[in-house]
Amino acid sequence: MWDFETDPAYQEQLAWVDEFVRTEVEPLDLVLGDPYDKSDERARRLVRPLQQQVRDRGLWAAHLEPELGGQGYGQVRLALLNELLGRSRWAPSVFGCQAPDSGNAEILARFGTPEQRSRFLQPLLDGEISSCYSMTEPLAGADPTLFTTRAVRDGDDWVIDGEKWFSSNARHAAFMIVMVVTNPEVDPHHGMSMFIVPAATPGLEIVRDAGVGTESPEHSSHAYLRYDGVRVPADHLLGDEGAAFAIAQTRLGGGRIHHGMRTIAQMRRAFDLMLERAVSRTTRSGRLADMQSTQDKIAESWIDIEQFRLLLLRTAWLIDRHQDYRAVRKDIAAVKVAMPRVYRDVVQRSMQLHGALGISNEMPFAAMMVDAQVMAIADGPTEVHRQTLARQLLRDVAPGEPRFGSGHLPTRTEAARAHIAARLERDIAAFQ
Ligand SMILES: Cc1cc2nc3c(=O)[nH]c(=O)nc-3n(C[C@H](O)[C@H](O)[C@H](O)COP(=O)(O)OP(=O)(O)OC[C@H]3O[C@@H](n4cnc5c(N)ncnc54)[C@H](O)[C@@H]3O)c2cc1C
Repeated sequence: MWDFETDPAYQEQLAWVDEFVRTEVEPLDLVLGDPYDKSDERARRLVRPLQQQVRDRGLWAAHLEPELGGQGYGQVRLALLNELLGRSRWAPSVFGCQAPDSGNAEILARFGTPEQRSRFLQPLLDGEISSCYSMTEPLAGADPTLFTTRAVRDGDDWVIDGEKWFSSNARHAAFMIVMVVTNPEVDPHHGMSMFIVPAATPGLEIVRDAGVGTESPEHSSHAYLRYDGVRVPADHLLGDEGAAFAIAQTRLGGGRIHHGMRTIAQMRRAFDLMLERAVSRTTRSGRLADMQSTQDKIAESWIDIEQFRLLLLRTAWLIDRHQDYRAVRKDIAAVKVAMPRVYRDVVQRSMQLHGALGISNEMPFAAMMVDAQVMAIADGPTEVHRQTLARQLLRDVAPGEPRFGSGHLPTRTEAARAHIAARLERDIAAFQ
């Protein structure tokens, strides 16, 4: 059964969110610093009351199940919520669902021990601390089977040595979740484990923070991390020894589609600005809106966004149905591939219509273009997701007749004639 409507009670919630984000949360983006910096007293004073309003509406940490303080709304409702929150840098923090904390909370909830949950998960859910996910390595980014960061068991501890790259928000994080090799003798899918490493652990060093695009050094927050003899107690192992791959898939499956949901908001923002510009700017030949080249941009952008949104919502619906990200790998990969292309194309068209203003640092487009490129790299590059999608599509396809294949018209016509002749013969025999 197909249904494109949102139930009225939830639609009412979404209407509240839309208004609340536009009037109360978006202004924070223009005056406050980094949402992950929990030591910023001014930010806390401004954000706490807003977070309380979100809690009172029953919308806090909507990505988590009710027993963990979330709403258990599922991915479709989350998508509808996130496409509103994605308008604002601060909104995910105000609603308790900011990445990478949301993904870290999900794996702590699913795989953490009761002690780990009370020490690391609870303050994360309460918005008291930030966290970091430390997986990518400088020499093995997109391919975890090449990771070399190693943890070795030493008595009651594990000792971690190696380097990680682009570990976002490490500088504000109370702990890292790090993926390392614990058994190099077995295949990497069973030889890696996850550990929780508190930020103050000796031997853990931020070599430097890289920024994206033209971010200034003080806004750069993607850490090049060195783990030099970092010692953690054995109870800091997250999940089973050797289970890191499966845990990472749980985390990244959700993370990828959540990025997609939020990105829709940015696509729409660029699109709305395109519409406004088209009817506001007049040239010698008339309004931009009356030119066919502008109408092409508008029509293509609307179609691109709507197609992407439908693909994303259907994927969210499939996740809710299967309750298993692996069963929806193909669809999630398709969302991941489509997201940066649609985002970039819509932003580029809008930027072009805004002329010099569009390319200036007084408009959001340049940052959006970089953000679109981030979506083509973070959580795995587009090429890898294309491969995943294609392999899944090819997996169950049986080979055809090798010379001409099953679409060959002369062969099909011959088979059809034989089939119909046999039927006619049967019919004649039945009459006699
Ligand atoms: C803004 C941002 C935030 C991030 N945050 C985090 C974080 O918090 N924690 C974390 O662990 N990581 C994080 N990352 C890292 C991210 O996961 C990696 O950048 C990503 O996996 C790609 O790895 P790489 O950058 O080393 O690229 P590489 O692996 O060096 O790949 C470079 C390029 O080579 C090509 N390529 C690579 N492999 C293949 C292949 N198999 N087939 C075809 N082409 C290929 C692609 O064009 C790819 O873009 C973040 C990245 C960004 C941009």
